[in-house]
Amino acid sequence: MTTKKLHILLIEDNPGDVRLIQEMLGKVKKEYSLEHAGTLAEGLDKLSKGLFDVTLLDMNLPDSSGIDSIPEIKKISPKIPIVMLTGFDDEETAVAALHLGVQDYLIKDRIDRTLLLRSLRYSIERKRTLDALVESEEKYKSLVDNALTGVYKTNLDGDILFANHALTEMLEYESPEELMSLRAFSLYRTPEERNNLIGTLQKTGKVTNYEMEAVTKTGKPKNLLLSLTLIGDVISGMIIDITDRKRMEETIKHQAFHDILTGLPNRLLFLDHLVLALKQASRDHHMVAVMYLDLDNFKEINDSLGHASGDELLTAVAQRLKTCLRDSDTIARLGGDEYCILLSKTDSEDDITVIAKKTILAFRQPFVIDDHTIHTSTSIGISLYPSDGNDPEALIKNADMAMYNAKKRGKNNCQFYNPAMNTRALERMKLTNSMRRGIKSGELVLHYQPQVSLDTGKVRYAEALVRWQNPETGMLAPMQFIPLAEESGLISEIDEWVLRTACAQNREWQKAGYSEICVMVNLSPRHFQRPDFMETVSDILEETGLPSQSLGIEITERTVMKDIELTIPSLTKLSKTGVRFCIDDFGVGYSSLNYLKKLPVQMLKIDKSFILGLSSDPDYKTITNAIINLAHSLKLKVVAEGVENEDQLAFLQILRCDEAQGFHFSRPVPADEFVRFLQ
Ligand code: C2E
Ligand code: MG
Ligand code: MG
Repeated sequence: MTTKKLHILLIEDNPGDVRLIQEMLGKVKKEYSLEHAGTLAEGLDKLSKGLFDVTLLDMNLPDSSGIDSIPEIKKISPKIPIVMLTGFDDEETAVAALHLGVQDYLIKDRIDRTLLLRSLRYSIERKRTLDALVESEEKYKSLVDNALTGVYKTNLDGDILFANHALTEMLEYESPEELMSLRAFSLYRTPEERNNLIGTLQKTGKVTNYEMEAVTKTGKPKNLLLSLTLIGDVISGMIIDITDRKRMEETIKHQAFHDILTGLPNRLLFLDHLVLALKQASRDHHMVAVMYLDLDNFKEINDSLGHASGDELLTAVAQRLKTCLRDSDTIARLGGDEYCILLSKTDSEDDITVIAKKTILAFRQPFVIDDHTIHTSTSIGISLYPSDGNDPEALIKNADMAMYNAKKRGKNNCQFYNPAMNTRALERMKLTNSMRRGIKSGELVLHYQPQVSLDTGKVRYAEALVRWQNPETGMLAPMQFIPLAEESGLISEIDEWVLRTACAQNREWQKAGYSEICVMVNLSPRHFQRPDFMETVSDILEETGLPSQSLGIEITERTVMKDIELTIPSLTKLSKTGVRFCIDDFGVGYSSLNYLKKLPVQMLKIDKSFILGLSSDPDYKTITNAIINLAHSLKLKVVAEGVENEDQLAFLQILRCDEAQGFHFSRPVPADEFVRFLQ
């Protein structure tokens, strides 16, 4: 291995000493070069120009004395090591020089060549190592200082020995020094928390991913994640701020258990609370109530004002419901316009009734949404633990069923569940299923009831009335299955079947020579409002070959008046083809007389309740008279329905009613019997 040539600068004013050094080094010129300066100034000048590996510095120079030269030299060449040359009695000063960064010192009288060379080489090596160390430490320091992670050191006693900028900022202190003036304990929620942590640390030497809550200087809570190691009595730690992450986690958790629109608990959380409440109730022997709420006219509001307003209403309802309840009660939105309330501790049905009534009353005050004043109400069903069910699902289902019952009782009221509801619901489901089968397997039959002209005594109209020949229960009247069919949607199939069968039957009669008859078919509102209603009617007429003048359609007031503006165009179109329209059950609905004029109807059928009441209540005479006069003034024919006896018939004749229908003439009968009646 070849050693690098050393360039030495000797700053020495004593010519004798200079010579001595030169002589010592002279023999190995290849390995050393020596330059000489007689004063500090000259030395500094040379240093600023030349490249030296080491400076040999005499303690006493003409222009500087003692250790004063050292900082001057370091200023010019901080990286070049210095070896001091001192006198025998100057050793104390030499030690001070070491503290100022001099690498070594040599006592002039005692130098020999070996010592000199070794000291020079050694100084250079030491300086290099030291510089590297300083450099690496600086790098490390800036790394720690600029790290995004908080870095700190404390001792077991709680003195904070070091804190970097990231930690300082994290905890909102002005400077690392300010933070370091605190005690480590004060950053924990309680001193015990730190003690416990240190306990673990002393056992294991290391703790990773320890989550803690700290408070910043300004009092903000922070979630921190710590990793710590203990060496000796020094704890080194790294801290990450996970406050945002925690918040995000909480949000996600919140969203999983809450309804985004209203912020209320969702079904999942409701079930959770209910399970808990039931456990407590079974232990403490008290009641739990589940209230199921549904807004009464939400669909209409949503359709007319738009979904955004609908959403706002749902939120406003949530707010209002909260005001009716205690903090311990849970209110959840189950979806749509349905809410569920859990009264977890109740002792009497009376208390629950009070809360339910208070809730219903809370809807009296209208809601104001986007400048619209919205009136809505709610129907409430209530089920109780333990009487109505032991598990959450059963309680919710039964409360729902009770709510359904509240709706049927005219909405805007509350109903407690009773087991009969369940039986009824089950029966309805069974009936719907067997109706679905029955329609397919041809169990429906049509009966016809004649309508007699009071002028001529002739039959010009036959009302088709559906029956269900149910194999299990026998013949069912329409009122026993039509409402259920309307609810389940099966009504469209029924009405279409009736329409087709009645048209085909009438065509048969016409072929048999009874060409005068117009068959009247009852259509439910559900079917009537279908967009393809018109087409269905024309298709069936075409299919059966019945002239359109031989078909009449009976619709109730309720049906025409709903969405009247939509109804008029399709009615008009169909009426232009010759199909007749008759308003059925007139007088019990709420027809606007104005619309009566606009509608393309040819007939009014007075509701049978008026006719049946004619003999007992004089008011009915007045009403019947008024209806007949009204119809005539609008150029409409009047039919009286439910004529059961001679007196009623006589009275209607006096009032100049046009047509009559009722048991007095004939009950609704099968088609063949109807023909016999005609004969
Ligand atoms: P509606 O259209 O008002 O039919 C007249 C009802 O009065 C029939 O009852 C008929 O049997 C009954 N009636 C006739 N004369 C008298 C009488 O002198 N005294 C008494 N007390 N009643 C009499 P029905 O057949 O039970 O039908 C009841 C209702 O069911 C009908 O009222 C109609 O709204 C509906 N309906 C009947 N068939 C159909 C149908 O095919 N489709 C639809 N959607 N509804 C139908
Ligand atoms: Mg009718
Ligand atoms: Mg009627």
